[in-house]
Amino acid sequence: MSAPPIPELPGCKRCGVGILLPLSDYGRDGAPITYKAWVCNNPECGFNIRIDNGDISFGRLVTQSQK
Ligand SMILES: [Zn+2]
Repeated sequence: MSAPPIPELPGCKRCGVGILLPLSDYGRDGAPITYKAWVCNNPECGFNIRIDNGDISFGRLVTQSQK
């Protein structure tokens, strides 16, 4: 028996091998924002989708700090 895949997470359409992981955040008032962003778990891909106030944006490696 191999490890079962996580059924509810969509695969990454960009790299085709990663899985999109849901990330949650908290709003200014402390209210939880469930699944605010999705990010590919393939480090070589880094595809991510953010949802801000109803707007969807596709980011590219925006989470990596270069400072
Ligand atoms: Zn990917």
